[in-house]
Amino acid sequence: MKNIFEFSREKLEEDLLSKGISKYRSQQIFDWIYKKNVLDVEKMQNISKIDIEIIKNEYSFEKMKVVDVKESSDRTKKFLFELNDGNYIETVLMNFSYGKSICISTQVGCDMGCSFCASGKDKKVRDLTVAEMVLQVVQVKDSLVEGENLTNIVIMGIGEPFDNYINLIDFIKIVNDNKGINIGARHITVSTCGLVPQILEFANLPLQVNLAISLHFANDEKRSKYMKINKAYNLEKLFNALEIYYNKTNRRITFEYLLIKEVNDSLTDAKQLVSLIKGLNAYVNLIPYNDTQMFSRSPKEAQNRFYDYLMKNRINVTLRREQGLDISAACGQLRIKKMRDDYGKRVDN
Ligand code: SF4
Repeated sequence: MKNIFEFSREKLEEDLLSKGISKYRSQQIFDWIYKKNVLDVEKMQNISKIDIEIIKNEYSFEKMKVVDVKESSDRTKKFLFELNDGNYIETVLMNFSYGKSICISTQVGCDMGCSFCASGKDKKVRDLTVAEMVLQVVQVKDSLVEGENLTNIVIMGIGEPFDNYINLIDFIKIVNDNKGINIGARHITVSTCGLVPQILEFANLPLQVNLAISLHFANDEKRSKYMKINKAYNLEKLFNALEIYYNKTNRRITFEYLLIKEVNDSLTDAKQLVSLIKGLNAYVNLIPYNDTQMFSRSPKEAQNRFYDYLMKNRINVTLRREQGLDISAACGQLRIKKMRDDYGKRVDN
């Protein structure tokens, strides 16, 4: 049985047609599940009895099991979901002045092996299905109370989204569909550590989705030391791809830069970053690192010195307000804690 949340509206039309059901039922089903939050087919009043029987036998409307929800003092919420095969994934809901933003995971574990990342220590177990990505949004949205609004989706939780490219694109279509979850493309951001072939493919996507690069280092030597991806696609290859992306889409590129104590937070690092991105239509998001056993957060003075240097050089930059520190908000930490508790499985972070 296929999970209904696996399908974009177009794919559901095709699938329904193959079962002898008119394709307009796809829009009706989308309306029931995404707009009216009705998951019991019997209650979908505008669908005929005959079609209801077929739909019941062919599709599951099952949601994921929420095993833990933690809320921090700044009201950031972290959801831990259990998947059908016993794996766990995390989703984070953050508060901003403009509304609520959800950060979703795309894989169980991650193969990119960034040395400062808790999830990277834990190899990829598998890609998430489209349904598992969509349900993170649906179920977290369900938890909102009246007056709260989900306005943004960032795809920068556990996993490398471009390493699960086909499912990622279907996910984006569903959450962007105005008959579905209806989050505007400009309110959706995909973050990659720098998979060049997929960046080039993404440039052809006929949607105005934002691209963010997890850059973190502005010279090849350091980037290759801490981020394996740089050995395959160094800064020159990455920035050539970004130039092509920009020429095709005309969209500003965001660079994510974790500030890690004595690793990438010196004035020299800031200077290298400025020379790398100067002249580009770019925006830099500086993020103070969450301490792990191996690395520490950049001290306040170093954060400010870095930020000031970028500002002085007219780079669009923000120093991110810290969200959810008291609930293990560093990517992967809640999931890893749960795995340790359940299986005594040791995963260093
Ligand atoms: S930082 Fe992102 S890409 Fe790198 S290992 Fe962690 S989850 Fe994967």
